[in-house]
Amino acid sequence: MKVYKFGGASVKDAAGVRNLLDIVQGETDLFIIVSAMGKTTNALEGVFTAMQQGDEALAMERIDASYAYHRAIVDELMGADVTITQMNILFQQLRNTVRNTIYRPSDAELWYDTIVAFGELVSTTIISNFLNGHGVENKWIDMRRAFLTEQRHKDANVNIEATQVRLKREIANSEVSVFVGQGFIGGAPDGTTTTLGREGSDYSAAIVANVLDAESMSVWKDVDGILNADPKIFPDAHKIERLNYMDTLEMAYSGAQIIHPKTIKPLQQKNIPLYVRPFGNKHATGSVITGDVERAFEPIMIQKSNQVLLKLHSRDLSFVLEERFAKVFTTFDSHRIKINLMHNSAVNLYMAVDASWHIDDAILELNADGFDVDKTEDVELVTIRYYDDELYRRYAFDERIVIKQTTPHSLRFVRTK
Ligand code: ASP
Ligand code: MG
Repeated sequence: MKVYKFGGASVKDAAGVRNLLDIVQGETDLFIIVSAMGKTTNALEGVFTAMQQGDEALAMERIDASYAYHRAIVDELMGADVTITQMNILFQQLRNTVRNTIYRPSDAELWYDTIVAFGELVSTTIISNFLNGHGVENKWIDMRRAFLTEQRHKDANVNIEATQVRLKREIANSEVSVFVGQGFIGGAPDGTTTTLGREGSDYSAAIVANVLDAESMSVWKDVDGILNADPKIFPDAHKIERLNYMDTLEMAYSGAQIIHPKTIKPLQQKNIPLYVRPFGNKHATGSVITGDVERAFEPIMIQKSNQVLLKLHSRDLSFVLEERFAKVFTTFDSHRIKINLMHNSAVNLYMAVDASWHIDDAILELNADGFDVDKTEDVELVTIRYYDDELYRRYAFDERIVIKQTTPHSLRFVRTK
């Protein structure tokens, strides 16, 4: 079995879906994981926000816009007279969810997951139909049934043990050997829908690869492979042919947009190679990530934007890491806030975290617990792995830098914009 993952950008329009067909045509023993088309997840987050605000009319308007977007793709792929019943049913379920739910803020994450999951349910429905009509006979898999996650919404981890049984059951006795399943979503023990964190489809594909002992996993992207830097930010970026799991994981964690950081562990466990390949050219080699490659011998430069810098100060001067450690981390974890860099003194703790709508709630909780918290929005976290003297001189003395950390291998700093 091979696993192919297609991200939203690769299936954002009819041409993208036709290109997917071209890539998978003729393949057997293939599990295809697909994200929501284009910017659909953002659009559905908009539906959720409208629901949260109690604005049903706005939510319906946004659902209609998403329907029109998908319908235009279907029109172009199959003709305006073709109806995909299952797609219409999904949109009806989405409308019903918004209409019939009595929204409580304490259930925000549950409804977020329930709503945004429709993006992947719809994209896979369209793609599975289209492939079936073009000689790639396949089975649509409902990943809410195939993946058992923990009972945690918005950023759930998959329980691989339990998923072994479920996923294998879903594909057992199938007459076809090509499967199409949703990235990003799963099902909780209580039967509700969960999501695995934004950009989590890579992680879904890696779980499938692990459970089915795949020979390889390929991620089809709008880049030639993995670059050592984002060319928009750092000049002289170039492709890295081969990378090991560890460097890839560190890159992903630092904010490189190549792959979701949770992807690496399930692959590493079974030593499954990961290919990052350009969807515009199925014959190009791309980059390959495996266990048996030496460390990278060139600098890797990553900028993570959309960060918030928090400075926690313990009001009664208790030692922040000795006496308050557990409290601080429990608070962040319970609000699904990702900490990307930390720096502490006796009573102060600085943290660069991903921007999210939970930060203010966490701050209120910390205030109640004896911390003053300063918040600086819109900062950047820069990581230069395997830096050299020249790069150090070029980047480390920027007056916008507010925190800087170095180890023999990496230079990391937070700077204002
Ligand atoms: N559709 C989801 C997102 O946009 C998951 C993914 O793309 O991997 O975050
Ligand atoms: Mg995506």
